[in-house]
Amino acid sequence: MHYRWLFLVGVLSFGVMPAMQAQEAACPTPALSRLSRHTVAAGETLDSIATKYNLISTTIMGLNPTARSGSVSPGQTLLIPPYNGIRVEVPTGTSIKDVAARYRVRADVLYEINGCQRSPKVVFVPGVNWSPNAGIQTAAPSTAPVLSGSPLTGSTASVALGFGWYLPAGGEKPVFHSGIDILANVGSAVRAIGDGTVAFAANQGNYGNLVVINHQQGYQTRYAQLAKINVKVGQVVKRGAVVGTVGQSGSPSTVQPHLHFEVRTNSKLGWVAEDPIAFMRK
Ligand SMILES: [Zn+2]
Repeated sequence: MHYRWLFLVGVLSFGVMPAMQAQEAACPTPALSRLSRHTVAAGETLDSIATKYNLISTTIMGLNPTARSGSVSPGQTLLIPPYNGIRVEVPTGTSIKDVAARYRVRADVLYEINGCQRSPKVVFVPGVNWSPNAGIQTAAPSTAPVLSGSPLTGSTASVALGFGWYLPAGGEKPVFHSGIDILANVGSAVRAIGDGTVAFAANQGNYGNLVVINHQQGYQTRYAQLAKINVKVGQVVKRGAVVGTVGQSGSPSTVQPHLHFEVRTNSKLGWVAEDPIAFMRK
């Protein structure tokens, strides 16, 4: 499970034509007219559906009030947007420029992805995370990094297996390790390294007991091989919140008790694994 993700650097693109060409080219179909429908199949979760469409699960929650509990059931129909963002009503007397300013997105981009409508009643704002509590969270420019610090307290924690390709002992083919294994005693508290919303909290294959948290700016963190899970899907957590405890569930790639920890970024190609060390140093 840890190894099947490709190590790719994706660039989030909105499929928007450059503004300079807009005069000669037809405007794209408005994003809200490009919603597709997904019927939930048995065994699917909000996170697995989001991954399938290269979205973060809060995007689907925001657009589908029936999914805001964080769980979905087979047969349920969900609206799926072409990329991450939120649906926003444009109050009478305000313009698309006001919406762009409020959510700190480029006005020309907002205009184009909403089909170049002069005074739309409802628009789709790209790149803004929907949040269960506040309704929305703007991707406000901030000096504080979205992710920082270690999921384990105590500077003695050492990394038993790093991120990236490695040759397993006795193995012939290199395998990809999509996170890092940080040694810690069973029962140690595992903490979120950024504010976010719990997107998954259950047992999943090789990961064992797994907590997945979606953060602003398209970041995701995964805490695996846990003994106990302390959070629920849809729960909003602050940086430092204890999401579970270190365990040995699933099929860990390191024998000694450890936390398998991942940082992923959302791209057109799906959730791409990054080296967590770079984020933990912030
Ligand atoms: Zn691992």
